[in-house]
Amino acid sequence: MTNRAEAIIDLSAIRANVALLKARAGVDLMAVVKADAYGHGLVPVAKAALEGGANWLGVALLEEAITLRKAGVTAPILAWLVPPGSDFKSAVDSDIDIAVSSIKALEEVGAVAGSKRPRVHLEVDTGMTRGGFLSEWNQIDAHHVQGVEIIGIFSHFARSDEPGQPQNLEQLARFKEMVATLESFGYTKIIRHLSNSAATLLDPASAFDMVRTGIAMYGLSPDVKTLGDSKKLSLKPAMAMRAKLHLVKDVPAGLPVGYGATEVTRADTKLGLVAMGYGDGIPRSARNAGIFFNGKRAPIIGRVSMDQFVVDLGATSTAQSGDWVSIFGSGLGGEYTADDWASAAGSINYEIVTRIGPRVPRLYEL
Ligand SMILES: *Cc1c(COP(=O)(O)O)cnc(C)c1O
Repeated sequence: MTNRAEAIIDLSAIRANVALLKARAGVDLMAVVKADAYGHGLVPVAKAALEGGANWLGVALLEEAITLRKAGVTAPILAWLVPPGSDFKSAVDSDIDIAVSSIKALEEVGAVAGSKRPRVHLEVDTGMTRGGFLSEWNQIDAHHVQGVEIIGIFSHFARSDEPGQPQNLEQLARFKEMVATLESFGYTKIIRHLSNSAATLLDPASAFDMVRTGIAMYGLSPDVKTLGDSKKLSLKPAMAMRAKLHLVKDVPAGLPVGYGATEVTRADTKLGLVAMGYGDGIPRSARNAGIFFNGKRAPIIGRVSMDQFVVDLGATSTAQSGDWVSIFGSGLGGEYTADDWASAAGSINYEIVTRIGPRVPRLYEL
């Protein structure tokens, strides 16, 4: 078997990014490896992050946490989207911490029978109005938390990539109030965590005991406009996507290309066919992204299909079928970046890397 496309994951970049972020934060770091480590591969990335100095791992789902345990990972793990009715006993047995956002959930988790008490982090809503305790917070009392061990309290920023945005200060103030409520019940040694990547880079006052970094650990900027790109942040993008040209052919001017004939060749040219499409996470909406070969960018022409897209290589291109081309990478050599693809698709770099599908093999560079 030979690959038509590959995502090359640089684990030394993950280690270096984690070390840099942890040094900047000056507190413990939770490496966020949900959604298959933002498409980079759950287990290899988690191990690299721990080697880089991460103290904790954060995931959305219980099954992600259990996969890590089965792979031999012993570091503390928090799973924050474990639905009602889950097998909470397996979480307890595997030493997996669970986030809890309601009294009902506290009672459900607390009712798990076993020799160990369930470990929970209370998620509080400080202004994002997504998960977390809001009005119920005022009703919590000692008997609700009897069955559990409270390890931490956390919240999540809605606008931390917008420096100077008043909502950030409001969320921080609210977080402090909610922490104080918990402390007034006698819990003084709990882990307080609030910052995501953007806050870790912009807002040292929100670091508390631990930061939770996702995107920056993968070497990508939380927001190129407000924080600058990877290079400016001294982060190293960990994923490089490459594909093998399936076909190169000469075409005359004036031919309609692809579904809907949305574009027509403007001159005699060479077209390249890339065997990746929206079935692999290449956004169908992408305009003005493409491939990089031999020092030159070649843009997409026509619509992206499910398994393939066409690029205009230009009449003088020396590319041949079978040549490997870059889809995106660090950008340092002139290739497109995940940021370029994000702006080409009206999206964010998070979505570009996370949606690279399971058909694309990940190759790991140590
Ligand atoms: C995804 C997520 C993070 C990481 O966010 P980044 O912007 O990628 O750093 C942190 N905390 C929670 C609760 C999350 O869901």
